[in-house]
Amino acid sequence: MKERSINDINRKVQSGEANIYTAEEFKKLIKKGDAPAFDEVDVVTCGTCGVMSGTAAILNFIISEPGVFIRAKEVYMNGVPAYAGPCPNEWLGSVDVILHGTAHSIYDESYGGGFLLKEILEGKPIDVRVETAEGKTIENTITMDDITRGQIIGARMAFKNYTAFTNPGKDEVKSIFAAMPLEGNLKGLTFSGCGDLNPLQNDIPHNAIKQGSKVLLNGALGYILGDGTRSSAEKPNLMLSADLCQMDPYYLGGFKTGQGGEVYDTVAIPIPVLNEEIYNNLLVTDEMIDLPVADIKGRHLPLDNTNYQEMWGDYDLRPKYDERKCKDCDSCTVERVCPTNAFSKRKLNIARCFGCGMCASHCRHDAFAMNTGSVDLNINGENVNIPIICRQSDRLRANKLSLKLKRMIENNEFML
Ligand code: SF4
Ligand code: SF4
Repeated sequence: MKERSINDINRKVQSGEANIYTAEEFKKLIKKGDAPAFDEVDVVTCGTCGVMSGTAAILNFIISEPGVFIRAKEVYMNGVPAYAGPCPNEWLGSVDVILHGTAHSIYDESYGGGFLLKEILEGKPIDVRVETAEGKTIENTITMDDITRGQIIGARMAFKNYTAFTNPGKDEVKSIFAAMPLEGNLKGLTFSGCGDLNPLQNDIPHNAIKQGSKVLLNGALGYILGDGTRSSAEKPNLMLSADLCQMDPYYLGGFKTGQGGEVYDTVAIPIPVLNEEIYNNLLVTDEMIDLPVADIKGRHLPLDNTNYQEMWGDYDLRPKYDERKCKDCDSCTVERVCPTNAFSKRKLNIARCFGCGMCASHCRHDAFAMNTGSVDLNINGENVNIPIICRQSDRLRANKLSLKLKRMIENNEFML
């Protein structure tokens, strides 16, 4: 069996001779029948981006002069509750908090921790209210500059397996698995997962993806702490951590769902091709990756199966918005459904867009165009074609972060 060591690869990287591919580049060559041989590939950078509910941030920031209050009991940031502590910071005027990416504002269900983290990274002012242990209320506005330390810990990230959902019932169903309540009568399908770009999908036995390995989490250097919560051999995911203050706001943010605000993250992981088993596992492609389709109400009972080629194919990754077709409706359905608030005041902020596809199926006057495809299924003995109306993963961001990682390795800014 052919083998090489990490040191062999690092030496090749340092001398500029390493063959490094992003997963997208590598899969394109496989699909063309032109896959590089073992000797022609040293590293493949894989990536995934999607709703990752296990995201939490540990923050310390200054809220007042020292001596003003004893310690914080409750903390709200833009109305989003954060857990005070664990450190009490007695009389210091600063607070430690743990903020959940899935926490919802007490004023607006659709705004939550994911949106807040993005705004912090964008340098926007954040209104903070602290209820103290002795009954005082302290209010102040902070920015990123007031955060002395911030660390993201993702308890459950970069999942390998997902399920797609549809609604065979009559009534719409609210769920975190769809950006909006999912209409009944099989009107649409929602799915997550970046298919053959996903790191764990390319290294199911964890030959290269190990505890302590380096990753990029939302653009910042991070580490694999170990398996994520509820991780199993059949359904693995990872626990990751990185410095929040080093992250790029493009790669994380809020995502509105039928059950309120959620959070998305982007992860890129290098797979060094150390032996033929690792190489062979990298040959997986979208059509080889099963995706069960389940009733959104009976999540563990598949109605049928499909695969990631059917989900991503050559479909559009971003919508086209034609402002001339917009009729400036009294109440814009796109503004209401867009999960990342990328469409506001009749303007599309493409950097905020997640490529979910909801705008194309909800604009009343076809001002948005985006082909997200449809899938043929057999449900309860009937052949049906169901349009894919919502993606909760973003291949464009996954590709971008994988490319950034490839460049960092090439430039000796990320050593394996
Ligand atoms: S629903 Fe479509 S046409 Fe109407 S305001 Fe929104 S984008 Fe414009
Ligand atoms: S695809 Fe449309 S609905 Fe989805 S995030 Fe982009 S603009 Fe919003």
